[in-house]
This record gives sequence, C-alpha cells and structure tokens, in this order.
Amino acid sequence: MQTKRDVMERIGFTEATDRLLQRADGICVSRGSRLTELRRQVLGLVLDSDTPVGAYDLLERLRSAHKGAAPPTVYRALDFLLEQGLVHKVERLSAFVGCVHASEPDDVHSGHDHEHHHAAQFLICTRCSRTVELEDDDVASALGVAAAGVGFRPARSTVEVEGLCAMCQAG
Ligand SMILES: [Zn+2]
Ligand SMILES: [Zn+2]
Repeated sequence: MQTKRDVMERIGFTEATDRLLQRADGICVSRGSRLTELRRQVLGLVLDSDTPVGAYDLLERLRSAHKGAAPPTVYRALDFLLEQGLVHKVERLSAFVGCVHASEPDDVHSGHDHEHHHAAQFLICTRCSRTVELEDDDVASALGVAAAGVGFRPARSTVEVEGLCAMCQAG
C-alpha cells in the first residue's frame, strides 16, 4: 500500500492542523510507530474537517493528492489512527473525528491501556453534524459507578449524545 510515493502530492492543511500533525508525529515516534505520509494525510483530512468525516469522503479527498488511493488504503490508515488514539469513530455518523486528547502529552493518559483508548463522550448536532468530544472525567466515572452498581464491569465506553449545538440553537 505504500508504493507510488512519488505520485503522492502534499495536501495543504491549515496551520492549526499542521501543528496537530506535528504533535501526532511526535507521539507516534515516542511509541516506536510511524506516521507515514499517507497516515499523516488521512489524519490531516480528519482534523481539517468541521464535522466528522466518513471513510468514503476521506477517500475522495485523498484522491486529489493520491490518485491510486483505494478503500483499503484509507481503512488501513484509519485503523492505525484509531489504534494510536489519534482519531475516534463516531458510530452514529459512521465517521471519524480527531481526538481532543491526542494533542496532549502521553503522561496525561497514565491510567489508559496500552492501546491509548479512553472513555469518550460525544455531543452530536443532528442539524449540522458538528461533533464535540467532552473532556469531562466526571461523566466517565459516574458511568463506571453506575455500572458497578449493577455488577457490570465495562471494558470500553463511548457515549454518543444527539441534539442541537449552540450555533444551531441560535440560528
Ligand atoms: Zn478522545
Ligand atoms: Zn449544529
């Protein structure tokens, strides 16, 4: 899948995204993995988007720079990014968003497993699809306590809340 590097052009990202990509690169290096150019581009496309992006949209955008890109190319890159905790999948939208925690140093995640996953909560606007990842540890621990109360031991937890974002309520 990493062939044809020569025909892969650089996609121009916003400065903010470029900064995040640099962080992501550093995170990967510190873990002994590698953010290849293709993975970097897929992550950049996810981060540059206002709303979560589906795999086929990513493929289409990727093709502007990487004509040979096929669905497995994108899925493999997404698998890597999910594994590294750099993106999340929003199941409700079948789409991907950058993880807000991915720009933090690793030591913040001391309690997390080696796959760099964490409990996540998403607020999904049903009108504009903008999706916000909550950074509220209280939500995760309240869920854990409630689950323990019925003798359940959660392994992973992703909460998806649908509603209207502040902007759509104002409009
Ligand atoms: Zn996250
Ligand atoms: Zn909205």
